[in-house]
Formats: sequence, structure tokens, C-alpha cells
Amino acid sequence: MAGRKTLATMLFAALFAMSLVVMLAATIASVAASFSSYEAQAEQLLLSRASSYAALVAPLGDEDGMRARLEGIPFVGMRCTLIAADGSVVFDSDVDPSTMGNHAGRAEILAARESGQGTIMRRSETLGTDMLYAAIEVRDGIVLRLAETRISHASFLGGMAPQLAVSLVAIFILSLLSSRALTAMVARPLREVDLTSPLGNDAYAELQPLLKRVDDQRRELERAVMMRREFTGNVSHEMKTPLQVIGGYAELMENGMIDAKDVPRFAGLIRGESESMRLLIDDVLTLSRLDENACSETGTVFLADTCRRAIRRLEPTARERGIVFALDADEHAAIAGEPSLADQMVYNLIDNAVKYNREGGTVSVDVSRSGGDVVLTVSDEGSGIARDQRERIFERFYRIDTSRSRETGGTGLGLAIVKHAAESFGGTVSVGDSTSGATFVVTIPCAPIPER
Ligand code: ADP
Repeated sequence: MAGRKTLATMLFAALFAMSLVVMLAATIASVAASFSSYEAQAEQLLLSRASSYAALVAPLGDEDGMRARLEGIPFVGMRCTLIAADGSVVFDSDVDPSTMGNHAGRAEILAARESGQGTIMRRSETLGTDMLYAAIEVRDGIVLRLAETRISHASFLGGMAPQLAVSLVAIFILSLLSSRALTAMVARPLREVDLTSPLGNDAYAELQPLLKRVDDQRRELERAVMMRREFTGNVSHEMKTPLQVIGGYAELMENGMIDAKDVPRFAGLIRGESESMRLLIDDVLTLSRLDENACSETGTVFLADTCRRAIRRLEPTARERGIVFALDADEHAAIAGEPSLADQMVYNLIDNAVKYNREGGTVSVDVSRSGGDVVLTVSDEGSGIARDQRERIFERFYRIDTSRSRETGGTGLGLAIVKHAAESFGGTVSVGDSTSGATFVVTIPCAPIPER
């Protein structure tokens, strides 16, 4: 896990960045809003003062009368200018009017003549500072103007710097803390997921499918482990029986308790037991391979050939008991899979049909195609299989009649291999009713290229 980015880190980074951006934007917007409302207020105030002075001087006739009146007023914190209709400066509270240029072209003067009043924020050439001007037309083109030194944007912000710095730090800390808390809140249910009981968790709904899968896999694994343990136990048990028999006979021979003439018979018994052990080991290995899904090769298998091979191998045994075979096979019926596994599947079914058949009975083997499937049917004329046993006979080591099965050399694994093999070919196996004896039906999808 080291070096991998965590959900918590990503979430924290995203939340932190987002809250910082939002809070900063809000701060900037509110500073800008307060600055412009402060400006608007100042403009209104200056304008209303200018109006009062204009009203004061308006009745005084000409510019000279007005100037005389204005000269008597002490202007504190602001500058007053009176501009004649021709644009020449008649009076100025701060500067000698004779040094001042014609003001007719100034924006605020033009506005005042146009609409009665005008305000503007500008750098005063005369004073060299940021000035707010408010101009009012007194009458007949004569304009009275008030000017006030204003704080610029920069110095407004400069004045707010300490508060701004404090609030920026506060924003940073607040963003950090709230992002951390939110991240912890979101991540906690994830951290606390208990995988030993996946469905016992109260985590997010989005996690449920994942937890369900984990749970399913756990169960599957537990089952597999249990079955394997059981299987190993059974295998050991099954191996002990022939080994005990072999050991027993060997001990008798060792102690000279068997007559010389009986030795060949006992040797034969020992060979028989070792043979059944070999069969058992073969079957166990086949099943282990099937359990691991380790197919060595896949190919197209024509079941007619497979059936003929199995019958040829079983013919000698069958003949001893007068059992005959009836094969009816579609030569084109083919399945896809491992050929040696198909051999074992077919052999086990026909072997059982011989083993559990009546003396002189018939083993019927049928291979046909139906729909997209190949259907293999193996029937005999033995005692058949009771309904309540039909599921269980496919279990590993399950035998209906233990002594009979052992006597015929059965391992109890034959049908388990048949079922597993059929499934590995994508098919199924079932036991059906027949007029006499048992009928096994294996249905497997046709191979993609069935013609030869
Ligand atoms: P086994 O090696 O004992 O034959 P299988 O797995 O092949 O083991 O078969 C399981 C059991 O099913 C057998 O012990 C037997 O009792 C029963 N069985 C299988 N095939 C037949 C059949 N054709 N007729 C009657 N019983 C059968």
C-alpha cells in the first residue's frame, strides 16, 4: 500500500482547495462591495454639500458676488472652486485662480452643465493626489465644484491589510479544520469496514455489492477448504483399507502361516489390492486436477470413437459375465474439451453399466445430437438406482452398496469424475428412469466444428 494515494488524501486536498477558493472569493467580493458602497456614499455626500453651497451663492447675482461670498467661508478638508460660464476659474479655496487653466473641458464641469450635476474621481494635476470631484451648476453656466482627497483602491486595501491578514489566516485555518473533519467523517466508515464479516458492516450503500462479493468469496473459500479437508480424510481412509489387507497377508507369509501351495493365491490377492490402490490414486489425481481447473489440452472429441475405445477395453470383463454391448453412435457428434477426460468420463459410465449389470445383460450406449447438444446415454439392465440415491451417487466416495462396490473394485469416485468432467465440457449429467436398470444421460454442447 505504501506510496499509493489514499481516498482520504484526495478528498482532503479537494475539499481544502475548494473551501479555500470559495472563502477567498467571498472575501474578495465583500471587500469590493464595501469599497464601492463607501465610494458611492462619499460621492453622494460631496454632491449634497456642493448643492448647499450652490444654493447659498445662487441668489448673489454675478460671479464677483459669489466669489466674495465664498471667500468668507473657511473650507476645511475640502476644496471649493467656482468656474465661470467661459471656463475660467473665478475662485479657488486652495490655489490662486490666476495660476489655473481653463476648466471648461473637465468632465465634471461638462456633466454639470449638461444635467445640473456631475461627479468624478480623478488625479488632480494641480494637487497631485486622487481627488473626488462633485460639480453643480449654480446658474447660467456658472459651476461650483467641491473636491475631496480620496483614498485610492490600493490605500483602501492597505488600510484594511491587518484585518485582511487576520481573516486570511482564519480562512486558512477554518478551511483546513473543516476539510479535515469532513474527510475523517467520509473516510471513517471505509476504514472501519470489517472484512471478517462483510455483511455485518453498516458502510455506504455503494460498498454493498463489493462487500456482498467478498462475503460470497469467503463462503466459497470456506466451503472449498471444508470439502478438501473432508476429501483428504476420505482418501486416507480409503487407502488404509487395501494397505491393511496387504500388510496382513504379508505378515502371514512372513510368519510361515501360509502353505507354499497357497502363496500364489495370496500374492494374487495382494496384487488385486495394490491394483485397487492404483485406481484410487489415479482417480484422486484426476479429481485434484479437475478441482484446479488445470486442463492440459483442449480439442474436438468425437464421442463415437471414445465410446468404441471404452467398449474395447471393457469387452474382456463383460464377456466373463455374458454381458453384451449395443452401440448406436452419431459419427459427427463432437464436443470440445480435453480428450483424455472425455475418455475417463465415458469409460467410468460404461464400466459402471458393466459392473452393476445383471449376468447376461446388455449395455446400451447411444450418442446423438439434439438441438445444439451432444447427448450420450448409457443404460444397463441391473438393479437400477433408487430415486432418493440419484443425487448422492455423484458425491465423492458415496456408494449405495459398499461391499458390492469394493468387491467390483470401485473407488467410489467414478461418478464424481463423470459429473466434474461433464461440467468442465459445459454440460450436465443425470440419472433417468429406464425399463430395467439405470440410465445415465450426459448432455454437452456441440463443438463449434462438428463435421469431419
Ligand atoms: P464406484 O467406484 O463405487 O462404482 P461410482 O462413483 O462410479 O463409484 O458410483 C457410485 C455408486 O453409484 C456406486 O457405488 C453404485 O452403488 C452406484 N452406481 C453407479 N452406477 C450404477 C449403475 N449403473 N447401476 C446401479 N448402481 C450404480
